[in-house]
Amino acid sequence: MKVLVINAGSSSMKYQLLNMEDESVMATGLVERIGEATGKMIYKKFPDTDAEAKVERDDHVPDHRAAMHFVVEMIKDAEYGVIKDTNEVGAIGHRVVQGGDHFKSSVRVDEPVKDIIKEISPLAPLHNPAHITGVEMAEELLPGVPNVAVFDTVFHQTMPEQAFLYAIPRSLYEDLKIRRYGAHGTSHKYVAQQVAILMDKKPEDINVITVHLGNGCSMAAVKNGKCVDTSMGMTPLAGLMMGTRSGDIDPAVLAYLAEHKKMTIKEIDTMLNKESGLKGICGLNDMRDIHAKAEEGDASAKLALEMFSYRIRKYLGAYAVVLGSLDAVVFTAGIGENDDIARSMILADLDCLGIELDRGKNEGRIQEAKVISTDASRVKAWVIPTNEELQIARETVAVLNN
Ligand code: AMP
Repeated sequence: MKVLVINAGSSSMKYQLLNMEDESVMATGLVERIGEATGKMIYKKFPDTDAEAKVERDDHVPDHRAAMHFVVEMIKDAEYGVIKDTNEVGAIGHRVVQGGDHFKSSVRVDEPVKDIIKEISPLAPLHNPAHITGVEMAEELLPGVPNVAVFDTVFHQTMPEQAFLYAIPRSLYEDLKIRRYGAHGTSHKYVAQQVAILMDKKPEDINVITVHLGNGCSMAAVKNGKCVDTSMGMTPLAGLMMGTRSGDIDPAVLAYLAEHKKMTIKEIDTMLNKESGLKGICGLNDMRDIHAKAEEGDASAKLALEMFSYRIRKYLGAYAVVLGSLDAVVFTAGIGENDDIARSMILADLDCLGIELDRGKNEGRIQEAKVISTDASRVKAWVIPTNEELQIARETVAVLNN
């Protein structure tokens, strides 16, 4: 079966067409700056050995419909296409950021499912409406092809109440569904499953801490294949320090800012989401720039790095206790895969957890799954490149085969 994976954001659309016979990528690309004066449309077909395999256009993309139109036209284009007709696409898998506590698994999209995704939108106001638009465009431009919603929150739905409830009046959970949902679930699930395969174990036989470090950062404690805790909360603001997001903070700071700086709730929310994290400490949010500045001797860049890794180390300790016993720690996503300095800071002196980093194996960017701990290390440290598109396609096939 060929599966088209769609990840629709508020002003962008990432896509990938996969042949699930061998899980190979047939075509991939991105439409950016939807609705702005000049948008960008990128399409790449595989194998991409010749320069002709790539199409890049700077043009006005008025809306998601136009973006989807580009995708559909390109995949069946006479010159660049990889299929002859859209009826060759067996299913469309949509990334959906928030499934609330309604969705415990990926689902085939019908009208009631769309209604629930819309209903949950206040929990993900930038994302869920865009996902619905993506689904509606797919229904229009690929009529008859089934759509499947794959939620970022589903993997974390196995958390017990003690982990997902906040210690606030319980009625707020019952009335408004305020609780920890987590995010990056598709990525955490993918690497948790991959590490089991690579260690020649069943997922239900190992305990793993997965560490997703990208623009957004989160960790998950995965016990016998099931998530039992994760660092992000009701929204992706909680937990680790991120590029521009604060992560955990004493909630009393918000009231203090409102009172003493006369900031509105909206201003505080923007500050915590867009002006905090690494950027709040050193003015930069891209790890590559931060390393460059730290190498020049900049104290604020060094401090940002130290705070970033310190927070992750605290969660490692907490999750090792939550799990009781630990088999592996897995790093993934932009920073997790590429940043050997961050990984070495995070895993330094962790005898207490039975993790011994092999500095040689850790060196450089890692593009294929690899162990970075010593042979003697009781707990193995891994880098496993994430592949959310493949995971979404796998889930899509599983839903349709059920
Ligand atoms: P992602 O959200 O997974 O695409 O990750 C994006 C982040 O990965 C960027 O903000 C960078 O900080 C980080 N990143 C990408 N490449 C490198 C690299 N070579 N070294 C350090 N950080 C990197």
